[in-house]
Amino acid sequence: MSPTDATGDRTAGASPDGPPREPSSGRAGQRDSRERRDPRPGLSGLGDGELEKWLAAEGQPAYRARQIRDALWRQNAANAEDLLTLPAPFRARLGEAFRIDTIAEDEVKVADGGLTEKTLHHLSDGALIESVLMHYPARGLAGPGRPLHRERHTLCISSQAGCAVGCPFCATGELGLGRDLETAEIVDQVRHAARRLSASGSHLTNVVFMGMGEPLLNLDRVLEAVAILADPRLFGLGARHVVVSTSGVVPGIRRLTALGPQFTLAISLHAARDPLRDVLVPLNRRWPVAEVVAAAREHARVTGRRVSYEYVMISGVNDTEIDADALAMLLRGDLAHVNLIPMNPVAHTPWQASDPDRVAQFAARVRRGGVGVTIRANRGQDAGAACGQLAADRAGEPTAAVVAGRRAAIVRESETALRGSRSSESLPADLEAAVGRGAAR
Ligand code: SAH
Ligand code: SF4
Repeated sequence: MSPTDATGDRTAGASPDGPPREPSSGRAGQRDSRERRDPRPGLSGLGDGELEKWLAAEGQPAYRARQIRDALWRQNAANAEDLLTLPAPFRARLGEAFRIDTIAEDEVKVADGGLTEKTLHHLSDGALIESVLMHYPARGLAGPGRPLHRERHTLCISSQAGCAVGCPFCATGELGLGRDLETAEIVDQVRHAARRLSASGSHLTNVVFMGMGEPLLNLDRVLEAVAILADPRLFGLGARHVVVSTSGVVPGIRRLTALGPQFTLAISLHAARDPLRDVLVPLNRRWPVAEVVAAAREHARVTGRRVSYEYVMISGVNDTEIDADALAMLLRGDLAHVNLIPMNPVAHTPWQASDPDRVAQFAARVRRGGVGVTIRANRGQDAGAACGQLAADRAGEPTAAVVAGRRAAIVRESETALRGSRSSESLPADLEAAVGRGAAR
């Protein structure tokens, strides 16, 4: 079996029935098309039994699989030379057949006095993705020497280079879709963070799919990645320590529900009223609020697990009393919790974060309406915290005319929404295509 065969449709982002997808015309896509993708599969993305099959075909003993897994997941090996337990000629053969690491560190920015580390990685074809490592020190005292809340290290990872959904407050959305990540490119972000953490003797405790991309439009690979992260022989992360966040891909939510209580589902809601959500999350024109919440409610019922609703607070846009009441009305009685996140400023929007008083009043009103709410601190503002910001900077600042044009379009669309009318615009062609591919799987 050739190494390419060993991974089947995991290889290089190929669609199940065809060649690797063409990058879109987004800015992320333009960057992607510059270099050729490395055809060697990523070693860390191999599925159950695939490594064993390849070893057998190479005439290698079965115990090599454990040696390789230990090197990948205990030592976080980055190069074939790091696999020290293997004989040198076999190390070289492994390096010919597979990429030991599929992502390379491009830039690291540290913020919040060292509590947030944001990494820009480049992939074999030059595509850029981001991951953010957040440290939460132990807090409170439960007894002598026993903290109430243990130290946590959470990694926010990307599932795609860019994103087709195009939420107007999001730096990744502004980039457009480059391409889906391969399974190995997803899990290698975790190995990279584990490598950084091991230097201080710490371990990763949580992984959240809240970086670049819409995970439910690359769901097959996201699920393969989650299986690898949960496998005790590999990363061994407790399934309860994984959050998958979606802008509302209803068929994807239903697929997750069918899998049972594997992870926490987060819904990026941002508005409880369709006219406004049509603008803030363009996918709402395909799956409106009621359908998204119905699917999430079903997920909570089947899995017994509380759903998180993310709500980015944008001054004068979605932070009014009417919005708070609509949100409370929508979620009252559900196994649900709302996280309010002040918007991180991004270059191409005319919008600002709601001020802290307004966020507090909004939270109190939703709470009075019977729904649990937490106000989230904004991590890493000085490191370009909104995911996609570093990659957007690298893609080159759009010209002043392009930024002005985008801002004018956002203002025009949101005026209709703020008057209460639903968008008459259909899905942009890129998003329509991405949804078609995602739903077909
Ligand atoms: N595409 C998925 C997951 C990645 S986005 C989704 O939308 O759920 C992860 C989170 O970052 C989302 O809740 C998104 O709304 C939020 N986000 C994006 N841009 C932001 C900004 N400028 N300020 C604050 N949060 C932002
Ligand atoms: Fe895509 Fe999520 Fe950004 Fe919206 S918020 S553009 S869905 S990454």
